[in-house]
Amino acid sequence: MKPRERLSEEHWIVTENAHEAIISMDTFEKVQEKISEKAAPIKRSREENAAAKDDTIFRGMVYCNICQKRMSVHRQLSGKRTVFYFSCNRFGEYKAEKCQAVITDRTIQNTVKAAFDTILSNNKKSYKAYLEGYADIKREIKQENEKELTEIGRRISVLSRLQSEYYEKYVLGDWKKEDFEREKEHLHQKKKELESLKEKQVAIFDEEKRRLEEKHQYLKAIFKGKSKKWNKEFVKAIIDKIFIGKDHTVEIKFKFEEMPVITEKIGRKVKR
Ligand SMILES: [Zn+2]
Repeated sequence: MKPRERLSEEHWIVTENAHEAIISMDTFEKVQEKISEKAAPIKRSREENAAAKDDTIFRGMVYCNICQKRMSVHRQLSGKRTVFYFSCNRFGEYKAEKCQAVITDRTIQNTVKAAFDTILSNNKKSYKAYLEGYADIKREIKQENEKELTEIGRRISVLSRLQSEYYEKYVLGDWKKEDFEREKEHLHQKKKELESLKEKQVAIFDEEKRRLEEKHQYLKAIFKGKSKKWNKEFVKAIIDKIFIGKDHTVEIKFKFEEMPVITEKIGRKVKR
């Protein structure tokens, strides 16, 4: 029998995570062992893909707008150039048709950059104002938090004072033991409530501070993005998710922008 010829690398299309898991990990591993020799070159190239420096900067954030699931990444070698594209070939829920959404890395980049420029030019003033006021806002939040904590602390110390007053009444014989015990238990409950309120307040403050700092980082990145070459780190700092439709629309959810941007795909310019 004549051995099958191997395709040369430039004809390869490597697809990652294209299928959802339908077998157990255990079975999967056993099968993998059996086919590992045959699959070695594909596995290797898959690892190379993940580690590749020329990886797509949008990896992990591109979703299919039909089934809402993450799209698979494909890498195609065309001559010396590597082309990345995303696709979804799942069957939509309750649908007989596959999603068939597909888009190249290049088209995403052109589309996202155009949306980014629009956002920046529309919001430049408010972003700048936010960045300038950042230190003040941070200080205000901190002061507000301290005020709340002081107030809770004050209420706790009132309870402690009451407790010694009650004890005195009991010792002096003004109160019966059961009255004292009942009131003491009541104070104890109130104190516990205040302690948990204090914990909540601290958590709220931490969360507020984290969000504030994150937004600050985001806006700083936004201004840098105008001149800087876009890389994975930058894209991750400004974009949450990108949804690709079957039609020509792309929905981009930028971080900290309330509304997603819905825009037309911008492909490569057609030369005439
Ligand atoms: Zn889909």
